[in-house]
Amino acid sequence: MLSQLSKCVKARSILQLKIERLTFFSIESTKKYSKLRRWTEEDVIDGISKSLAKYKDIQFEPFRIKTFTLGSSVTNANVKIEQVLSDITGETIEPDTVNGSTEAFPKIINLNSIYRNGFNALEQHVTDGKMTDNVDVNFVIQAMKAGFLQDLDFHERCLQKIFVNEDDEDDDVDEELYETAILANHLFSRLTMPRISNSARFGSHFSILNDDRSRNIHRMCPCDMCKEKIPYHNSGIGSEMMFYGYPDIIVYSLGGKCNIVRPQQEDRNYPLTRDDHDFEAEFDEKQLIELKRQKELLRSSQNISQFVAQCITFSFYQKLYQLKYRKDILPVSLIPTIALSGMHFDIYMYDIDNDILLRNKGDPIPLWRTCRYPEAKLDMSAILQIWMVLNHLTLNPSLPQEDIQSLKGSCDFLHLLPQERIDLIESTITMKKTFMPWEYEEFDTKGNYITSTSN
Ligand SMILES: [Zn+2]
Repeated sequence: MLSQLSKCVKARSILQLKIERLTFFSIESTKKYSKLRRWTEEDVIDGISKSLAKYKDIQFEPFRIKTFTLGSSVTNANVKIEQVLSDITGETIEPDTVNGSTEAFPKIINLNSIYRNGFNALEQHVTDGKMTDNVDVNFVIQAMKAGFLQDLDFHERCLQKIFVNEDDEDDDVDEELYETAILANHLFSRLTMPRISNSARFGSHFSILNDDRSRNIHRMCPCDMCKEKIPYHNSGIGSEMMFYGYPDIIVYSLGGKCNIVRPQQEDRNYPLTRDDHDFEAEFDEKQLIELKRQKELLRSSQNISQFVAQCITFSFYQKLYQLKYRKDILPVSLIPTIALSGMHFDIYMYDIDNDILLRNKGDPIPLWRTCRYPEAKLDMSAILQIWMVLNHLTLNPSLPQEDIQSLKGSCDFLHLLPQERIDLIESTITMKKTFMPWEYEEFDTKGNYITSTSN
Protein backbone atom coordinates (compact mmCIF):
# COMPACT_ATOMS: atom_id res chain seq x y z
CA MET A 1 0.00 0.00 0.00
CA LEU A 2 2.79 2.34 1.07
CA SER A 3 4.85 1.58 -2.01
CA GLN A 4 1.83 2.18 -4.21
CA LEU A 5 1.35 5.54 -2.52
CA SER A 6 4.97 6.52 -3.01
CA LYS A 7 4.74 5.48 -6.70
CA CYS A 8 1.73 7.73 -6.98
CA VAL A 9 3.54 10.66 -5.34
CA LYS A 10 6.53 10.14 -7.65
CA ALA A 11 4.32 10.04 -10.75
CA ARG A 12 2.62 13.27 -9.73
CA SER A 13 5.98 15.04 -9.16
CA ILE A 14 7.00 14.09 -12.69
CA LEU A 15 3.71 15.46 -13.96
CA GLN A 16 4.28 18.68 -12.01
CA LEU A 17 7.65 19.09 -13.72
CA LYS A 18 6.03 18.50 -17.11
CA ILE A 19 3.44 21.18 -16.42
CA GLU A 20 6.03 23.72 -15.36
CA ARG A 21 7.71 23.14 -18.71
CA LEU A 22 4.33 23.36 -20.42
CA THR A 23 3.91 26.93 -19.14
CA PHE A 24 6.39 28.07 -21.73
CA PHE A 25 5.87 25.32 -24.25
CA SER A 26 2.17 25.94 -24.74
CA ILE A 27 2.31 29.72 -24.97
CA GLU A 28 4.83 29.51 -27.77
CA SER A 29 3.66 26.51 -29.71
CA THR A 30 -0.11 26.59 -29.96
CA LYS A 31 -1.72 27.25 -33.31
CA LYS A 32 -1.22 30.76 -34.64
CA TYR A 33 -4.45 32.20 -35.97
CA SER A 34 -3.82 35.55 -37.56
CA LYS A 35 -1.79 38.67 -37.43
CA LEU A 36 -3.85 39.89 -34.48
CA ARG A 37 -1.88 40.71 -31.35
CA ARG A 38 -0.95 37.64 -29.36
CA TRP A 39 -0.61 38.08 -25.61
CA THR A 40 2.76 37.27 -24.05
CA GLU A 41 3.11 35.43 -20.73
CA GLU A 42 3.42 38.84 -18.99
CA ASP A 43 0.27 40.14 -20.73
CA VAL A 44 -1.62 37.01 -19.71
CA ILE A 45 -0.59 37.27 -16.04
CA ASP A 46 -1.43 40.97 -16.09
CA GLY A 47 -4.81 40.19 -17.69
CA ILE A 48 -5.72 37.61 -15.01
CA SER A 49 -4.51 39.97 -12.30
CA LYS A 50 -6.71 42.83 -13.55
CA SER A 51 -9.68 40.49 -14.00
CA LEU A 52 -9.31 39.34 -10.38
CA ALA A 53 -8.95 42.93 -9.12
CA LYS A 54 -12.12 44.02 -10.93
CA TYR A 55 -13.93 40.74 -10.41
CA LYS A 56 -17.69 41.06 -9.85
CA ASP A 57 -18.91 38.04 -7.95
CA ILE A 58 -22.31 36.41 -8.40
CA GLN A 59 -24.56 35.16 -5.67
CA PHE A 60 -26.50 31.94 -5.54
CA GLU A 61 -29.73 31.08 -3.81
CA PRO A 62 -31.30 27.70 -3.00
CA PHE A 63 -34.44 26.31 -4.60
CA ARG A 64 -36.89 23.59 -3.63
CA ILE A 65 -38.54 21.31 -6.18
CA LYS A 66 -42.33 21.36 -5.88
CA THR A 67 -43.30 18.90 -8.64
CA PHE A 68 -41.58 16.70 -11.19
CA THR A 69 -42.34 13.87 -13.61
CA LEU A 70 -40.02 10.87 -13.35
CA GLY A 71 -39.24 8.67 -16.33
CA SER A 72 -39.37 11.46 -18.89
CA SER A 73 -37.03 13.44 -21.06
CA VAL A 74 -35.78 16.64 -19.44
CA THR A 75 -38.05 18.65 -21.75
CA ASN A 76 -41.10 16.82 -20.33
CA ALA A 77 -39.94 16.70 -16.72
CA ASN A 78 -42.52 19.25 -15.47
CA VAL A 79 -40.19 20.47 -12.75
CA LYS A 80 -41.52 23.41 -10.76
CA ILE A 81 -39.27 25.16 -8.29
CA GLU A 82 -39.64 27.79 -5.58
CA GLN A 83 -37.13 29.74 -3.47
CA VAL A 84 -36.00 28.21 -0.20
CA LEU A 85 -36.47 30.85 2.50
CA SER A 86 -34.84 31.15 5.90
CA ASP A 87 -35.83 32.99 9.07
CA ILE A 88 -33.72 35.71 10.66
CA THR A 89 -31.51 33.13 12.40
CA GLY A 90 -30.75 31.40 9.08
CA GLU A 91 -32.96 28.38 9.77
CA THR A 92 -34.85 27.11 6.71
CA ILE A 93 -38.59 27.82 6.93
CA GLU A 94 -41.11 25.16 5.91
CA PRO A 95 -43.13 26.57 2.97
CA ASP A 96 -46.45 25.75 4.69
CA THR A 97 -45.62 28.03 7.62
CA VAL A 98 -44.84 31.19 5.59
CA ASN A 99 -47.57 33.81 5.92
CA GLY A 100 -47.85 37.60 5.81
CA SER A 101 -46.31 38.06 9.24
CA THR A 102 -43.33 35.72 8.71
CA GLU A 103 -39.98 37.40 8.20
CA ALA A 104 -38.36 35.32 5.47
CA PHE A 105 -35.15 35.77 3.49
CA PRO A 106 -33.51 33.83 0.69
CA LYS A 107 -30.14 32.41 1.72
CA ILE A 108 -27.31 34.02 -0.26
CA ILE A 109 -24.09 32.17 -1.12
CA ASN A 110 -21.25 33.78 -3.09
CA LEU A 111 -19.63 31.90 -5.97
CA ASN A 112 -16.18 32.78 -4.62
CA SER A 113 -16.96 30.97 -1.38
CA ILE A 114 -18.04 27.87 -3.35
CA TYR A 115 -15.02 28.00 -5.71
CA ARG A 116 -12.53 29.22 -3.08
CA ASN A 117 -9.88 26.71 -4.30
CA GLY A 118 -10.00 28.12 -7.82
CA PHE A 119 -9.84 31.76 -6.75
CA ASN A 120 -7.02 31.08 -4.27
CA ALA A 121 -4.97 29.24 -6.90
CA LEU A 122 -5.36 32.07 -9.44
CA GLU A 123 -4.53 34.73 -6.82
CA GLN A 124 -1.42 32.84 -5.79
CA HIS A 125 -0.33 32.34 -9.39
CA VAL A 126 -0.55 36.02 -10.33
CA THR A 127 0.88 37.26 -7.02
CA ASP A 128 4.13 35.33 -6.89
CA GLY A 129 4.13 33.49 -10.20
CA LYS A 130 4.16 30.18 -8.34
CA MET A 131 2.06 27.16 -9.02
CA THR A 132 0.07 25.39 -6.35
CA ASP A 133 0.99 21.91 -5.11
CA ASN A 134 -1.90 20.48 -7.09
CA VAL A 135 -0.81 19.27 -10.53
CA ASP A 136 -4.33 19.26 -11.96
CA VAL A 137 -5.16 22.79 -10.75
CA ASN A 138 -1.93 24.05 -12.31
CA PHE A 139 -2.82 22.41 -15.58
CA VAL A 140 -6.28 23.99 -15.85
CA ILE A 141 -4.73 27.41 -15.14
CA GLN A 142 -2.31 26.74 -18.01
CA ALA A 143 -5.22 25.63 -20.20
CA MET A 144 -6.98 28.99 -19.70
CA LYS A 145 -3.76 30.93 -20.32
CA ALA A 146 -2.53 29.05 -23.38
CA GLY A 147 -5.87 27.94 -24.78
CA PHE A 148 -7.77 31.19 -24.49
CA LEU A 149 -6.05 34.25 -23.01
CA GLN A 150 -3.00 34.38 -25.24
CA ASP A 151 -5.30 34.61 -28.27
CA LEU A 152 -8.02 36.62 -26.52
CA ASP A 153 -8.12 39.32 -29.22
CA PHE A 154 -8.70 36.69 -31.91
CA HIS A 155 -11.28 34.64 -30.00
CA GLU A 156 -13.15 37.78 -28.96
CA ARG A 157 -13.37 38.87 -32.58
CA CYS A 158 -14.75 35.45 -33.58
CA LEU A 159 -17.22 35.46 -30.68
CA GLN A 160 -18.47 38.92 -31.69
CA LYS A 161 -19.86 37.26 -34.82
CA ILE A 162 -22.84 36.07 -32.78
CA PHE A 163 -24.11 39.67 -33.00
CA VAL A 164 -24.18 39.65 -36.79
CA ASN A 165 -26.01 36.49 -37.71
CA GLU A 166 -28.38 37.74 -40.36
CA ASP A 167 -28.03 35.01 -42.96
CA ASP A 168 -31.53 33.75 -42.56
CA GLU A 169 -33.64 35.56 -40.03
CA ASP A 170 -36.50 33.08 -40.28
CA ASP A 171 -34.43 30.03 -39.55
CA ASP A 172 -34.18 29.71 -35.77
CA VAL A 173 -32.40 26.35 -35.94
CA ASP A 174 -29.63 27.69 -38.13
CA GLU A 175 -29.29 30.77 -35.94
CA GLU A 176 -29.10 28.74 -32.74
CA LEU A 177 -26.51 26.34 -34.14
CA TYR A 178 -24.48 29.22 -35.53
CA GLU A 179 -24.21 30.72 -32.03
CA THR A 180 -23.67 27.36 -30.34
CA ALA A 181 -20.81 26.43 -32.68
CA ILE A 182 -19.01 29.76 -32.25
CA LEU A 183 -19.40 29.80 -28.46
CA ALA A 184 -18.33 26.15 -28.11
CA ASN A 185 -15.33 26.49 -30.38
CA HIS A 186 -14.02 29.91 -29.33
CA LEU A 187 -14.92 30.02 -25.66
CA PHE A 188 -15.89 26.86 -23.77
CA SER A 189 -13.44 24.44 -25.36
CA ARG A 190 -10.53 26.86 -24.86
CA LEU A 191 -10.74 26.96 -21.09
CA THR A 192 -9.95 23.33 -20.31
CA MET A 193 -8.45 20.10 -21.67
CA PRO A 194 -9.45 16.51 -20.93
CA ARG A 195 -6.00 15.29 -20.05
CA ILE A 196 -2.64 16.65 -19.10
CA SER A 197 -0.62 16.80 -22.24
CA ASN A 198 1.87 19.02 -23.98
CA SER A 199 0.29 18.58 -27.39
CA ALA A 200 -1.40 21.96 -26.89
CA ARG A 201 -4.40 21.04 -29.01
CA PHE A 202 -6.64 23.47 -27.24
CA GLY A 203 -10.13 23.91 -28.57
CA SER A 204 -10.78 20.50 -30.10
CA HIS A 205 -12.21 18.69 -27.07
CA PHE A 206 -15.91 19.38 -27.27
CA SER A 207 -18.92 18.29 -29.28
CA ILE A 208 -22.23 19.81 -30.30
CA LEU A 209 -25.52 17.93 -30.42
CA ASN A 210 -26.05 16.41 -33.85
CA ASP A 211 -29.77 15.90 -34.14
CA ASP A 212 -31.63 15.96 -37.45
CA ARG A 213 -31.39 19.72 -37.70
CA SER A 214 -27.64 19.94 -37.74
CA ARG A 215 -26.68 17.42 -40.40
CA ASN A 216 -25.38 19.64 -43.09
CA ILE A 217 -24.86 23.02 -41.62
CA HIS A 218 -21.87 24.45 -39.82
CA ARG A 219 -19.55 21.50 -40.30
CA MET A 220 -16.86 24.18 -40.13
CA CYS A 221 -16.80 26.95 -37.55
CA PRO A 222 -19.12 29.68 -38.89
CA CYS A 223 -16.93 32.53 -37.58
CA ASP A 224 -15.33 32.55 -41.06
CA MET A 225 -11.94 33.23 -39.54
CA CYS A 226 -10.51 30.05 -37.98
CA LYS A 227 -11.57 27.46 -40.60
CA GLU A 228 -11.80 24.77 -37.89
CA LYS A 229 -13.96 21.65 -37.99
CA ILE A 230 -16.88 21.44 -35.57
CA PRO A 231 -17.21 18.01 -33.88
CA TYR A 232 -20.75 16.70 -33.33
CA HIS A 233 -22.28 14.10 -30.99
CA ASN A 234 -25.65 12.43 -30.73
CA SER A 235 -25.46 11.12 -27.18
CA GLY A 236 -27.78 11.84 -24.34
CA ILE A 237 -27.12 11.56 -20.63
CA GLY A 238 -29.56 10.09 -18.14
CA SER A 239 -31.69 7.18 -17.06
CA GLU A 240 -35.23 6.16 -17.98
CA MET A 241 -35.73 5.66 -14.24
CA MET A 242 -35.34 9.43 -13.70
CA PHE A 243 -34.77 11.97 -16.51
CA TYR A 244 -32.72 11.93 -19.70
CA GLY A 245 -31.62 14.73 -22.01
CA TYR A 246 -29.31 15.68 -24.84
CA PRO A 247 -26.90 18.49 -23.82
CA ASP A 248 -26.31 21.01 -26.62
CA ILE A 249 -22.58 21.15 -25.86
CA ILE A 250 -20.41 18.62 -24.07
CA VAL A 251 -17.01 19.96 -23.10
CA TYR A 252 -14.38 17.37 -22.21
CA SER A 253 -12.65 18.83 -19.19
CA LEU A 254 -9.85 17.52 -17.04
CA GLY A 255 -11.13 14.39 -15.27
CA GLY A 256 -14.48 14.15 -17.08
CA LYS A 257 -16.94 16.41 -18.79
CA CYS A 258 -19.26 19.37 -18.38
CA ASN A 259 -22.66 19.91 -20.00
CA ILE A 260 -24.12 23.09 -21.46
CA VAL A 261 -27.78 23.40 -22.37
CA ARG A 262 -29.57 25.94 -24.54
CA PRO A 263 -33.16 27.01 -23.93
CA GLN A 264 -35.93 25.58 -26.08
CA GLN A 265 -37.09 28.17 -28.58
CA GLU A 266 -40.86 27.58 -28.41
CA ASP A 267 -41.55 30.96 -26.90
CA ARG A 268 -40.04 32.57 -29.92
CA ASN A 269 -43.32 33.61 -31.49
CA TYR A 270 -44.25 35.58 -28.43
CA PRO A 271 -44.98 39.20 -29.50
CA LEU A 272 -41.68 40.43 -28.11
CA THR A 273 -39.66 39.13 -31.06
CA ARG A 274 -41.34 38.94 -34.39
CA ASP A 275 -43.71 41.88 -34.51
CA ASP A 276 -43.53 44.65 -37.08
CA HIS A 277 -41.67 46.82 -34.65
CA ASP A 278 -38.83 44.32 -34.52
CA PHE A 279 -38.34 44.38 -38.29
CA GLU A 280 -38.39 48.15 -38.45
CA ALA A 281 -36.16 48.73 -35.44
CA GLU A 282 -32.67 50.14 -35.82
CA PHE A 283 -29.69 47.84 -35.20
CA ASP A 284 -29.16 49.03 -31.58
CA GLU A 285 -32.81 48.73 -30.77
CA LYS A 286 -32.90 45.23 -32.28
CA GLN A 287 -30.00 44.26 -30.03
CA LEU A 288 -31.92 45.44 -26.96
CA ILE A 289 -35.00 43.51 -28.05
CA GLU A 290 -32.87 40.41 -28.63
CA LEU A 291 -31.17 40.76 -25.23
CA LYS A 292 -34.53 40.99 -23.50
CA ARG A 293 -35.85 38.01 -25.46
CA GLN A 294 -32.85 35.87 -24.54
CA LYS A 295 -33.11 36.71 -20.85
CA GLU A 296 -36.82 35.88 -20.82
CA LEU A 297 -36.20 32.63 -22.67
CA LEU A 298 -33.65 31.51 -20.07
CA ARG A 299 -36.24 32.09 -17.34
CA SER A 300 -39.40 30.69 -18.96
CA SER A 301 -40.98 28.05 -16.73
CA GLN A 302 -40.55 25.37 -19.39
CA ASN A 303 -36.86 26.08 -19.79
CA ILE A 304 -36.23 26.28 -16.03
CA SER A 305 -37.87 22.84 -15.79
CA GLN A 306 -35.51 21.50 -18.46
CA PHE A 307 -32.39 23.04 -16.86
CA VAL A 308 -33.15 21.74 -13.36
CA ALA A 309 -33.90 18.22 -14.67
CA GLN A 310 -30.69 18.28 -16.73
CA CYS A 311 -28.66 19.55 -13.78
CA ILE A 312 -29.92 16.83 -11.41
CA THR A 313 -29.42 14.18 -14.09
CA PHE A 314 -25.88 15.33 -14.78
CA SER A 315 -25.13 15.38 -11.07
CA PHE A 316 -26.15 11.70 -10.75
CA TYR A 317 -24.12 10.86 -13.85
CA GLN A 318 -21.06 12.75 -12.67
CA LYS A 319 -21.11 11.06 -9.26
CA LEU A 320 -21.21 7.60 -10.81
CA TYR A 321 -18.56 8.55 -13.37
CA GLN A 322 -16.23 9.71 -10.62
CA LEU A 323 -16.75 6.60 -8.50
CA LYS A 324 -15.94 4.46 -11.53
CA TYR A 325 -13.03 6.35 -13.11
CA ARG A 326 -11.49 8.57 -10.40
CA LYS A 327 -11.05 6.08 -7.60
CA ASP A 328 -8.06 7.85 -6.03
CA ILE A 329 -9.89 11.16 -5.50
CA LEU A 330 -12.84 12.03 -3.27
CA PRO A 331 -15.85 12.66 -5.56
CA VAL A 332 -17.02 16.24 -6.11
CA SER A 333 -20.71 16.35 -5.19
CA LEU A 334 -21.70 19.93 -6.11
CA ILE A 335 -22.10 19.60 -9.88
CA PRO A 336 -22.88 22.56 -12.17
CA THR A 337 -24.80 22.81 -15.45
CA ILE A 338 -24.62 25.91 -17.64
CA ALA A 339 -27.82 27.22 -19.28
CA LEU A 340 -26.75 29.38 -22.18
CA SER A 341 -28.17 31.98 -24.51
CA GLY A 342 -25.75 33.79 -26.81
CA MET A 343 -25.35 36.77 -24.53
CA HIS A 344 -26.26 35.51 -21.06
CA PHE A 345 -26.04 32.36 -19.03
CA ASP A 346 -27.32 30.87 -15.79
CA ILE A 347 -25.47 28.42 -13.57
CA TYR A 348 -27.46 25.68 -11.87
CA MET A 349 -25.75 23.46 -9.30
CA TYR A 350 -27.03 20.34 -7.61
CA ASP A 351 -25.31 18.78 -4.61
CA ILE A 352 -26.30 15.15 -4.81
CA ASP A 353 -24.92 14.16 -1.40
CA ASN A 354 -26.81 16.89 0.42
CA ASP A 355 -29.85 17.40 -1.87
CA ILE A 356 -29.25 21.13 -2.38
CA LEU A 357 -30.20 22.95 -5.60
CA LEU A 358 -28.75 26.40 -6.37
CA ARG A 359 -29.01 28.98 -9.13
CA ASN A 360 -27.50 32.42 -9.53
CA LYS A 361 -29.67 35.09 -7.95
CA GLY A 362 -31.25 37.90 -9.96
CA ASP A 363 -30.97 38.28 -13.72
CA PRO A 364 -29.02 35.88 -15.95
CA ILE A 365 -25.26 36.58 -15.99
CA PRO A 366 -24.06 38.77 -18.88
CA LEU A 367 -21.29 37.28 -21.01
CA TRP A 368 -20.49 40.67 -22.51
CA ARG A 369 -19.66 44.09 -21.07
CA THR A 370 -21.06 45.82 -24.12
CA CYS A 371 -23.23 44.24 -26.77
CA ARG A 372 -22.50 46.60 -29.66
CA TYR A 373 -20.83 45.06 -32.69
CA PRO A 374 -17.93 45.37 -33.43
CA GLU A 375 -16.84 46.87 -30.10
CA ALA A 376 -18.41 44.13 -27.96
CA LYS A 377 -16.08 43.12 -25.14
CA LEU A 378 -16.27 39.94 -23.11
CA ASP A 379 -16.94 40.35 -19.40
CA MET A 380 -13.83 38.89 -17.77
CA SER A 381 -15.69 38.11 -14.53
CA ALA A 382 -17.97 35.87 -16.60
CA ILE A 383 -14.93 34.20 -18.20
CA LEU A 384 -13.46 33.39 -14.78
CA GLN A 385 -16.83 32.01 -13.66
CA ILE A 386 -17.13 29.80 -16.75
CA TRP A 387 -13.55 28.58 -16.28
CA MET A 388 -14.35 27.60 -12.68
CA VAL A 389 -17.54 25.77 -13.67
CA LEU A 390 -15.98 23.88 -16.60
CA ASN A 391 -13.15 22.71 -14.37
CA HIS A 392 -15.32 21.76 -11.40
CA LEU A 393 -13.88 18.24 -11.20
CA THR A 394 -10.45 19.77 -10.70
CA LEU A 395 -11.29 22.83 -8.59
CA ASN A 396 -13.56 20.86 -6.25
CA PRO A 397 -16.32 23.36 -5.45
CA SER A 398 -18.21 22.86 -2.21
CA LEU A 399 -20.54 24.83 -0.02
CA PRO A 400 -19.18 26.26 3.23
CA GLN A 401 -19.94 23.82 6.06
CA GLU A 402 -22.47 26.11 7.77
CA ASP A 403 -24.47 26.40 4.52
CA ILE A 404 -24.50 22.62 4.11
CA GLN A 405 -25.83 22.31 7.68
CA SER A 406 -28.65 24.79 7.13
CA LEU A 407 -29.60 23.69 3.59
CA LYS A 408 -29.17 19.91 3.69
CA GLY A 409 -32.26 18.31 2.12
CA SER A 410 -33.72 21.69 1.14
CA CYS A 411 -34.23 20.69 -2.52
CA ASP A 412 -36.87 18.18 -1.36
CA PHE A 413 -36.02 15.80 -4.20
CA LEU A 414 -34.04 12.84 -2.92
CA HIS A 415 -36.22 11.96 0.05
CA LEU A 416 -39.19 11.53 -2.29
CA LEU A 417 -37.39 8.69 -4.04
CA PRO A 418 -37.34 5.32 -2.28
CA GLN A 419 -33.83 3.90 -1.85
CA GLU A 420 -34.61 1.10 -4.35
CA ARG A 421 -35.43 3.74 -6.95
CA ILE A 422 -32.19 5.62 -6.28
CA ASP A 423 -30.29 2.33 -6.64
CA LEU A 424 -32.06 1.71 -9.96
CA ILE A 425 -31.21 5.20 -11.22
CA GLU A 426 -27.59 4.81 -10.18
CA SER A 427 -27.28 1.44 -11.88
CA THR A 428 -28.81 2.65 -15.16
CA ILE A 429 -27.59 6.23 -15.56
CA THR A 430 -25.33 6.47 -18.57
CA MET A 431 -24.45 8.25 -21.79
CA LYS A 432 -26.19 6.73 -24.82
CA LYS A 433 -27.95 7.58 -28.08
CA THR A 434 -31.48 6.33 -27.49
CA PHE A 435 -33.63 6.40 -24.40
CA MET A 436 -36.97 4.63 -24.30
CA PRO A 437 -39.69 6.41 -22.32
CA TRP A 438 -40.42 4.07 -19.44
CA GLU A 439 -43.21 5.12 -17.17
CA TYR A 440 -44.23 8.64 -16.31
CA GLU A 441 -44.75 9.23 -12.61
CA GLU A 442 -45.67 12.67 -11.44
CA PHE A 443 -44.85 13.65 -7.89
CA ASP A 444 -45.84 16.63 -5.80
CA THR A 445 -43.97 18.00 -2.79
CA LYS A 446 -45.70 15.60 -0.39
CA GLY A 447 -44.33 12.66 -2.32
CA ASN A 448 -47.75 11.72 -3.67
CA TYR A 449 -48.15 10.23 -7.09
CA ILE A 450 -50.35 12.55 -9.13
CA THR A 451 -50.61 10.27 -12.16
CA SER A 452 -48.82 7.26 -13.47
CA THR A 453 -48.93 6.53 -17.19
CA SER A 454 -47.34 3.59 -18.89
CA ASN A 455 -45.92 4.21 -22.32
ZN1 LIG B 1 -14.09 29.96 -35.66
